[in-house]
Amino acid sequence: MAAALMLRVSVRLQFRQRRVFADSVAMVSSRGMASKTSVGFIGLGNMGTPMAKNLIKHGYPVITYDVFPEACKEIQEMGSQVTDSPADVAERADRIITMLPSNPNVIEVYTGNNGILKKVKKGSLLIDSSTIDPAVSKDLAKEAEKMGAVFMDAPVSGGVGAARAGNLTFMVGGVEQEFDAAKELLTCMGSNVVYCGEVGTGQAAKICNNMLLAVSMIGTAETMNLGIRLGLDPKLLAKILNMSSGRCWSSDTYNPVPGVMEGVPSANSYQGGFGTTLMAKDLGLAQISATNTKTPIPLGSLAHQVYRIMCAKGYALKDFSSVFQFLREEENL
Ligand code: NAD
Repeated sequence: MAAALMLRVSVRLQFRQRRVFADSVAMVSSRGMASKTSVGFIGLGNMGTPMAKNLIKHGYPVITYDVFPEACKEIQEMGSQVTDSPADVAERADRIITMLPSNPNVIEVYTGNNGILKKVKKGSLLIDSSTIDPAVSKDLAKEAEKMGAVFMDAPVSGGVGAARAGNLTFMVGGVEQEFDAAKELLTCMGSNVVYCGEVGTGQAAKICNNMLLAVSMIGTAETMNLGIRLGLDPKLLAKILNMSSGRCWSSDTYNPVPGVMEGVPSANSYQGGFGTTLMAKDLGLAQISATNTKTPIPLGSLAHQVYRIMCAKGYALKDFSSVFQFLREEENL
């Protein structure tokens, strides 16, 4: 008990020392301009790439790794250094953000043979923005603490558009004293950075949000489909919903019907955006959490099944709003 407390105090002291050092580097620059210390970024997919770009735009040199090297190309063209492993990133940066698909990828990146924790510097701040099981975040925080580092979960809401615009919402779990240090980086990528509580609570908030999103997207898709069947023009129906009590994010910002809105996946054959497979994964996390806490989630469970069936029927890599197309195909059977 006493040893654990000592370790915690020592991690915080080391972290503060690192921050003082980072601040002094920022102040002393040969050209008289403020320069910032490097930030590691692992997972340059649909979300990671625009998020890392925003860090660069805010003056942070970014050191990257992705298991699929092609994914780093865009960010490399902006001057980012590409490394060969998560351990390499940890050797070169003491603040690292990870943005990976799911539990196994995150576990591999942190604890694998070439994982971050193999080379992490004492006092490092590790922020995981992937959506994963809160229990995994808690385990990783314990492992990081053993190495003298701080791990926080900071999953996001907002989609690719918000990642590009730098107005994501971050839900942050972890040691409260480190929240300001995390916020310094997260505000470069998001307009809302909310402290939720101990490690894992950011994931809890995210899982709840995505269960509601899944239910509302299916609801919007079936509502729009019924209206079209009844002879309504989809644009007009969307306009009426958006000025009425049925309005939601899925109807006014991310409408699933092709031709209703520009700049959303439904306007681009459901490419990019938030993959159906990722939504099915998040609903699986909600299902596990609901089972563990004996919480009834009838609509969340049904939404989970709908998205799993879609994955089995060839929709896995399409955006999750393709549930509209899935319903149209079902009605034609
Ligand atoms: P993505 O599949 O587009 O990108 C993930 C990236 O991680 C890929 O480039 C992949 O090559 C890389 N990767 C996988 N395993 C790796 C490993 N072991 N080492 C290094 N790199 C690895 O996924 P995304 O859409 O960017 O989503 C990332 C996370 O954010 C997911 O947890 C998702 O649930 C969450 N999320 C996504 C959205 C969205 O709209 N896409 C919105 C909110 C949250």
